[in-house]
Amino acid sequence: MLDPLFDSKQARYFTEDFGKKWPPRIVVSLSGGKDSMALLIKMVEEGVSVHRAVFVDTGWEFPEMYTHLDRLERYLGIEIVRLKTRNSLDEKLKQYRWPDWKRRWCTAEKRDAFNRYVKSLDQDYIYYIAMGYAIDEVKRIWKKGFVKSWQYAPLIWYDSPVMGGDWRMTEAECLAYCRSHGFDWGGLYEIFDRVSCFCCPLQKKAELRALRTHRPELWQRVLDMERTIPFDGEHYITFQGSKTAHDLERDFAYEESLAGGAATVPQVPMRPPSPERPPMVHKEVVAEEPAVMMTDEERRAFSRENKRLARRHMLGRARAAQDLARDVRLPQDVRSRLLAGAEQIIKGGSPKCNGLLLWDVFAQAHKILIGLGVPGGAYGDRPRTESGVAVEHAV
Ligand code: SF4
Repeated sequence: MLDPLFDSKQARYFTEDFGKKWPPRIVVSLSGGKDSMALLIKMVEEGVSVHRAVFVDTGWEFPEMYTHLDRLERYLGIEIVRLKTRNSLDEKLKQYRWPDWKRRWCTAEKRDAFNRYVKSLDQDYIYYIAMGYAIDEVKRIWKKGFVKSWQYAPLIWYDSPVMGGDWRMTEAECLAYCRSHGFDWGGLYEIFDRVSCFCCPLQKKAELRALRTHRPELWQRVLDMERTIPFDGEHYITFQGSKTAHDLERDFAYEESLAGGAATVPQVPMRPPSPERPPMVHKEVVAEEPAVMMTDEERRAFSRENKRLARRHMLGRARAAQDLARDVRLPQDVRSRLLAGAEQIIKGGSPKCNGLLLWDVFAQAHKILIGLGVPGGAYGDRPRTESGVAVEHAV
């Protein structure tokens, strides 16, 4: 069964406009962490049809993650598609150095593998990507452009048929929910706040300290990985802030010696001496372009296509809003805002922004109709009358 929230006019318009088959399919993006996992379990439990659950293996996963995915597969009785990145991240590390907030080339590799997979599926269907965004992440997601129109995020509260459901789960609730189903990630969440790549430089220093304490073999791997990055004479190698992983090792060892009462600076080299190491000169750290996955021409074509898709999607919304304003006698202000929003989208302008505003009004109308006991609210099938007004509402 498809999520009933999907069964809306807007989604149908969108699908029909593209000449695709109904219903759309849902691919779950599974990172293996608590949020995406809670999302997948909840979707299966609520009877939402999951076409595929996809996990992209970076090669930098905690070993427990693989056992955990096997268990999840057995528990849900579905196969989890496991993809590898096109390029080995260990090899890319030698070229691009550690990722940072401006150069998340490893995430780009993951996304590339995921997108390629979705493109390889039957293109007679539209695919929505279910993302495990918890509601306490809304601010962060909003900053990066909120949920994209082809994404589906039912853990987030957003009263819209396509962009989300009404599960409203926080990160803590996701973790408790997974635990209540018997999943413990081999104890990883008792030690860490997050269970993605063990060597991620974007995690907190406290997490790295915990990695060194509880999983020394993995921390050693981080140090070994850093040794494989050649000095190119141009860039400093930094792991977190201005420090290398070896600097952190030195800090942690010093902290340890302080705690043990022997405050001596441990003999940990800042980085193993390397014959190619150039003299230390202060240079500006230049932010590099992220890993290039497409040619410029492909990127432009992708961007054009993306804009065209967004426009079509928003037109679908506008048509659903116009239908609603025509079929239902709504309070005058709600009706006029629906029509004005739809008109703005049809005329052009900023479709994404207008679409979100319009959908807020649509959600408001939906609540009014549900409150009046109209079956299905704004999304329900409405019988037409000669006057065009199917649902009377005493304003
Ligand atoms: S968790 Fe960190 S290292 Fe792993 S893909 Fe994401 S940003 Fe890169």
